Amino acid sequence: MTKRVAYFCMEFGLHEDFRIYSGGLGILAGDILKAAKDENLPMAGVGIRWRQGYVRQKLDESGRPYDSFYEENHPFLEDTGITVSVKARGRDIALKVWKCDCFQNVPLYLLDAYVPGNADMLITGQLYGWFGEERLVQEIILGVGGLRALKELGIKPDVYHFNDSHPVVAGLELLREEIEKGAEFEDAWKKIRKKIVFTTHTPVIAGNESYDYKILDYVGVTKGFTKAQLKQIGGTPFGMTPAGLRLSKKANAVAQLHGETAKEMWKDIDGAAPILAITNGVHNGTWQDFTVAKASGKDLWNAHQALKTNMLKEISRRNGVILRPGALTIGFARRAAPYKRSDLIFRKPELIEPMLKDGVLQLIFSGKAHPNDMGGKDIIANLAQKAKEFPDSVVFLEDYDIEIGKLLTRGCDVWLNNPIRPMEASGTSGMKAAMNGVLNLSVLDGWWPEGCEHGVNGWQIGGGYEGEDCDEIDLDSLFDVLINEVIPTYYNDRQKWIKMMRASIDMATVKFSAARMVKEYYEKMY
Ligand SMILES: *Cc1c(COP(=O)(O)O)cnc(C)c1O
Repeated sequence: MTKRVAYFCMEFGLHEDFRIYSGGLGILAGDILKAAKDENLPMAGVGIRWRQGYVRQKLDESGRPYDSFYEENHPFLEDTGITVSVKARGRDIALKVWKCDCFQNVPLYLLDAYVPGNADMLITGQLYGWFGEERLVQEIILGVGGLRALKELGIKPDVYHFNDSHPVVAGLELLREEIEKGAEFEDAWKKIRKKIVFTTHTPVIAGNESYDYKILDYVGVTKGFTKAQLKQIGGTPFGMTPAGLRLSKKANAVAQLHGETAKEMWKDIDGAAPILAITNGVHNGTWQDFTVAKASGKDLWNAHQALKTNMLKEISRRNGVILRPGALTIGFARRAAPYKRSDLIFRKPELIEPMLKDGVLQLIFSGKAHPNDMGGKDIIANLAQKAKEFPDSVVFLEDYDIEIGKLLTRGCDVWLNNPIRPMEASGTSGMKAAMNGVLNLSVLDGWWPEGCEHGVNGWQIGGGYEGEDCDEIDLDSLFDVLINEVIPTYYNDRQKWIKMMRASIDMATVKFSAARMVKEYYEKMY
């Protein structure tokens, strides 16, 4: 029988108006639920009802991003009538359990501390808000609260899937339950491992959460274990990813290259689960325009131009900027993290500026910085400054979200991606673009080495180079490919361009679909 899976994640990106997501991690979780629904698989999602969602980020008069949070309405959620309770920092937190029934056979259950009388009412207010100790409380809510909610609902999962390390405390809770039933620690550990799988993401040690035992003790995560036992699971300080690897039977990285990186990164974690590489995919029904998916030849071009015109209209409505449908248009929408190098293309002003002035190129940017990330905000301010300098050919769309993501990965001609290799674990926006015939121009990082046939379905830049001087190497390569291949093909060889669009769509439609990914999860992980 097909296994019943409980999929735990801090965020779910299901729809632009349901703002309980921040970025790639949540979109992945949302696409997995949608694919499970399409494939009629018995999965349930477990997450948090973020009452104020993730930050809304606009630009002020000076072009600096500023943050706002709003009360979000989720009128479509059903009250299950169930309330569970967890203890954190010595206080009881009552959690209402809401159900999102949008995906029938794949319900999503959301925990909510916004219950009168709770001392920690606002702890489920802002996604990725708060600080170290509060993050841990949120993880108890997700992990322990999630397990208790499933129990109350009468759902008995065969497999618990932790997407990234935020739900890992649920693994400790499952272990504690076994010990309380009388099992020895080692036996209990072996037993619960058989039911847990874990997806690892961030390929940088510093990006993986770890906690001092003092905080773990205070918040209440260590209850029922000796320090030595906890050390065996998470090390010192207690690493959430090492713990995830040691509490699961199998773990996965999110692209083949990321698999290599993750194996190397965690090779010293003794007793870790084997790390498989299961490349992410995106939900076709959400991200692929069906007129483009089906068309060929001249029809494909016309379908694409219709999407482009639609995007340009929306840009004009939002920003008052009129871009030209006949000009080569490059899109770049990413979280403003330094390794993504959003403003790389501007670092050769002698080459890029004439192209922008002459109208050979149009650039459309979007992205948010985390509220506490001053460096990220500098990047956005810089992009906004470029839009002011080149008002006819550079646009920055504020408040990046699913709606903007859909618009740009359908409407641009080229999708640019230039992270520092190998720091981009997957990079699913490129898959969305590829499915719509928007040609990837990308560093060979994340999923792209698996999809790229240079000059056939998109272009690679940088040749897979890794090193101190990668900024220079990648930048030279970017302009080399842009000037000698992308621009001449776009303006002088429309037939070839259309052929490349078709090749891109064919490459991505099945291979980088969430349906393929979820099937692989069932075959290889669960
Ligand atoms: C697809 C998507 C992402 C993730 O894409 P990356 O390529 O990893 O940046 C993030 N945010 C939104 C709104 C998306 O639609």
